[in-house]
Amino acid sequence: MSADKKVLLVTGGSRGIGAATCRLAAKAGYSVAVNYASNEAAAKALVAEIEAAGGDAFAVKGDVGSEADIVALFEAVDRRFGRLDALVNNAGVVDVKARVDEMSLARLERMMRINVIGSFLCAREAVKRMSSKHGGQGGAIVNISSAASIHGSPGEYVDYAASKAAIDTFTLGLAREVATEGVRVNAIRPGIIDTEIHASAGQPDRVERFRDMLPMKRAGTADEVAHAVLYLLSDEASYTTGAILNVSGGR
Ligand code: NAP
Repeated sequence: MSADKKVLLVTGGSRGIGAATCRLAAKAGYSVAVNYASNEAAAKALVAEIEAAGGDAFAVKGDVGSEADIVALFEAVDRRFGRLDALVNNAGVVDVKARVDEMSLARLERMMRINVIGSFLCAREAVKRMSSKHGGQGGAIVNISSAASIHGSPGEYVDYAASKAAIDTFTLGLAREVATEGVRVNAIRPGIIDTEIHASAGQPDRVERFRDMLPMKRAGTADEVAHAVLYLLSDEASYTTGAILNVSGGR
């Protein structure tokens, strides 16, 4: 580990879009904290892959649905790297297909706790470390929203879509709140991306089913989202804050 390397924390970094972001960030020279919820094997395999390629990473367990876990997660990054330059609020969940009139309170609370409150609390911890108001050196946050925030996901998961709409507004507000404190905050709205999230919601064939409805007639890849994340984190995006970039193949 080199002290002058920038440090990036990716929540839900062990698989899918998060893992692609970790890989690309390590290649770009970041030291990377790979957060995961339960799949330790996937997180450890990714860290081993990054290290084998000459990069610097470590795996850290923590449920972003738990404030205690989030505080412990950031403290683990402090101990390991001693600095924090960037956060990607990527961890997120969908639930099984349901109409709003079928949704339980437990489902709604889980959705909002992980997708919305988790992102808020992680950003809180990041701002405390990065903002010049708190003696920090500045930094960048990228929130992973979804094209669902525009389309609403009727008959599928309106709760998820609404949680991502909250992320859009959170991005705008926080960006303006810390704009003079050296911290940029942006978001990405991925469209349908080929990852395991669809199977986790009981729809393993979702990418295939939606393919023909997409302007490019194909789903996106996790790598295609990760490239956009890396751009928004980079100094090349130094005048970009409060932006929400669609990475959705035109939909
Ligand atoms: P994925 O393949 O299902 O991977 C999810 C990742 O998040 C895993 O690393 C998982 O950890 C972690 N995770 C889940 N719940 C967590 C929690 N409570 N605390 C910490 N980590 C947690 O998902 P993905 O498709 O890459 O999605 C990543 C983000 O992109 C999400 O915010 C999702 O809403 C958004 N998105 C995805 C799509 C898409 O089509 N794929 C489209 C738009 C937006 P474990 O490995 O331990 O399970």
